[in-house]
Amino acid sequence: MIIGVPKEIKNNENRIALTPAGAAELVKRGHEVYVQAGGGNGSGFTDEDYLHAGVKMLPTIEKVYETAEMIMKVKEPIEPEYKLIKKGQILYTYFHFASSERLTKAMIENGSVCLAYETVELPDGSLPLLVPMSEVAGRMSVQEGAKYLEKTFGGYGVLLGGVPGVPPAKVLILGGGIAGTEAAKMAAGLGADVTIMDINLRRMRYLDDIMPANVKTMMSNEYNIRDMVQTHDLIIGAVLIPGAKAPHIVPRDMLKIMRPGTVLVDVSVDQGGCFETTVATTHADPTFTIDDVIHYCVANMPGAVPRTSTIALTNATLPYALQIADKGWKQACSDNLSLRKGLNVVDGKVVYKGVAEAFNLSH
Ligand code: NAD
Repeated sequence: MIIGVPKEIKNNENRIALTPAGAAELVKRGHEVYVQAGGGNGSGFTDEDYLHAGVKMLPTIEKVYETAEMIMKVKEPIEPEYKLIKKGQILYTYFHFASSERLTKAMIENGSVCLAYETVELPDGSLPLLVPMSEVAGRMSVQEGAKYLEKTFGGYGVLLGGVPGVPPAKVLILGGGIAGTEAAKMAAGLGADVTIMDINLRRMRYLDDIMPANVKTMMSNEYNIRDMVQTHDLIIGAVLIPGAKAPHIVPRDMLKIMRPGTVLVDVSVDQGGCFETTVATTHADPTFTIDDVIHYCVANMPGAVPRTSTIALTNATLPYALQIADKGWKQACSDNLSLRKGLNVVDGKVVYKGVAEAFNLSH
């Protein structure tokens, strides 16, 4: 198959859909890979790196779309790309169709085959192509939180790990799923006193088994949260109710009982956030303060570490890309039901229930 990887053109997007290592795997299997010149620069991959991997470079985005049978991307196509997409072309990328009717209509009109990373689903209901970004955001949440706890950033002025003779900082993590678990590991590794709150007792039993001694678990309910926020320095929101808006489990009035300089990092901001006061921010202006409590609510945290994120994304997407390239999308999706769940729009028709329902379309 001929695979094309354009440079991402969405504002501030420095990731690329395929690493040189991933491209080399496709080339080894007899496929042709074309990457847009300069496309990997933002992730620290040069054109030479791709050439060494057996990739052919193309000078423009137009050439990539013109040449490829399958386009691999990171973000959904944006307006200037719509007209470049050909009928029958496979688009394998994040789409998040339900949040954009315009995008959905455009993909219906161009007759492409849209395989969305975010709806590829394993038999246990997990979403393997969303996991890597939750891992990145979870780990980053502690790094960012530690930074904003510094006095110069307005924080309480505590070091997460403390020092001999001074107790460590207290970190509260709301939601012990993928992001919350990675946050807990990082905070624990730095020596903080960590508590994970969840509503899933089975999950907390598991976390209690695998986590080090400085990580405790506690049932998430309003009474317990109200009690804990008064004494914790860094509070990380990582709850998710699949397919729904995040619940506001920290209402506005709780800010008043927090210590001035407490830092809130809301990883679940992309689902509306679990702090009532959350408003999405950007890397250019990541924080705001309400009632002396610092809020960090960046909606695309992995964008700050594009090299790590690009490699993590390719690790997860490549096995499916190889199946699509080897067998063609029809056969690959018929052999692999997890991949089939990724089909959202095919040949002018929405084939994913959630997207059809979002816009009252038949599927
Ligand atoms: P996950 O499904 O693995 O974990 C969510 C956890 O929240 C589950 O364990 C669930 O039991 C728990 N939960 C649900 N309701 C709760 C409540 N009331 N109190 C406490 N816990 C509760 O989800 P995830 O992959 O870890 O993702 C977490 C969030 O991070 C999602 O909203 C996701 O979209 C978001 N995310 C954000 C970024 C970013 O850049 N900001 C990047 C990646 C993911």
